[in-house]
Amino acid sequence: MKCIICRVDKDALEFSDEHVIPDSLGGYYHIYSVCRTCNSRMGETVDSRLVNHKLTDLYRFVEGMAGKSGAIPNPFGDPTVSSENPDIKARAIMDDDGALKFQLIPRVVVHEEGGTPTSIEIMVDTQDEAEIGTILRKKLKRLGIDEFQARANSELVRSVLDGGFSTRWRVDMQAFKIGLLKIAYEFAVDSIEGYFETPDAIEISRILREFDCEAVNRFVTVGSGLQPEVFEPFKDYLDLDSKKHYLVLIDAGMELMGCVKLHRLFCVAVKLSSKRHLDKGQIIFGINDIENQTFRKLTFQELVAECMGPTHCRLGYFFATEEEARHAAAEINAPGYRYVSDRNGEPLLFQGGGAPNPRSISDIVARGRAADHWEGDWFITQIDFHPEDEVFVRSAGADCLYRVMGVEISRERMRKL
Ligand SMILES: [Zn+2]
Repeated sequence: MKCIICRVDKDALEFSDEHVIPDSLGGYYHIYSVCRTCNSRMGETVDSRLVNHKLTDLYRFVEGMAGKSGAIPNPFGDPTVSSENPDIKARAIMDDDGALKFQLIPRVVVHEEGGTPTSIEIMVDTQDEAEIGTILRKKLKRLGIDEFQARANSELVRSVLDGGFSTRWRVDMQAFKIGLLKIAYEFAVDSIEGYFETPDAIEISRILREFDCEAVNRFVTVGSGLQPEVFEPFKDYLDLDSKKHYLVLIDAGMELMGCVKLHRLFCVAVKLSSKRHLDKGQIIFGINDIENQTFRKLTFQELVAECMGPTHCRLGYFFATEEEARHAAAEINAPGYRYVSDRNGEPLLFQGGGAPNPRSISDIVARGRAADHWEGDWFITQIDFHPEDEVFVRSAGADCLYRVMGVEISRERMRKL
């Protein structure tokens, strides 16, 4: 088997479990076509640019996502509180309601005169005031000073520090994209037969292998990496606010595009090939559910089938006069109205004189003009028959012929994935 990164034929035992989306980000998509050597090298180069990105730290901090070590990163470091005294620092804490708070890091300063401690200054956050005694006792013990003697002269001073917090971030806006390119590439190789051997795929595997960050922009063409708008076209079926990572393969114009959305973190579209690779209308989705720890692939048709309820059909009628319309409406709008239909429930068609119409409804629909739109959660397709197609249905009750001008097909969206 060929490794999809180094493209060298290797024994099956030389392959290992590759996380397409890093597991520290809650990725559950595994492939087994990357060799051990490439897997560990990708981890150190390509993946690390993504996983150790400042925004990834922030994301994992906000989502409370622990890594393998069980630790949640702290993207703020220990910001400085006072501009006058850079030694006074705070720590960022997420409370139970998800609010970000900064808490002063306890600070102990021993003032001395000629090598002898004269006073001890303890600075804590107001909410930690109860800790002062413990901190003092520890310090005194270390200094070898008698606790009772020291207590006699202590005083508590509350003060408000000026200046607010300051912390400096260096944010990589380029190199992390190679990590997103790798995700899109692996998803395409794993999902589209024949893609692996294309010139673009060969070039992308070289970029990943050689960690060629400069060349990445030739493929990561849409979005800065931080623009969720890339996924706008899929919002009718994907629940973009849910805690999931999404991957999409789609032909756009004459190119194959791979879209990657890592929850609320990164979002890009990658040009994977300058050729089309999918059948008309075919889209491949990969949905990684972080909370349920699952990954699954599905086609556009499967996605629609899972999101949408049953199909409802309504015929649109034509009446020559108001009198005729009123008469027909009394029957058509009555509960239990049916037209004569075949075993599948499709209407039998007639000609104006009452003779059977040899054409099928699907034939008439195919010749019509279709337009679709959303109305709230309803997806409605309106088909107007070709003006030359004069077709009639026969009502099952009053045995009347009614001319049909078009059909409205509607489906309710039950959920997004
Ligand atoms: Zn390899």
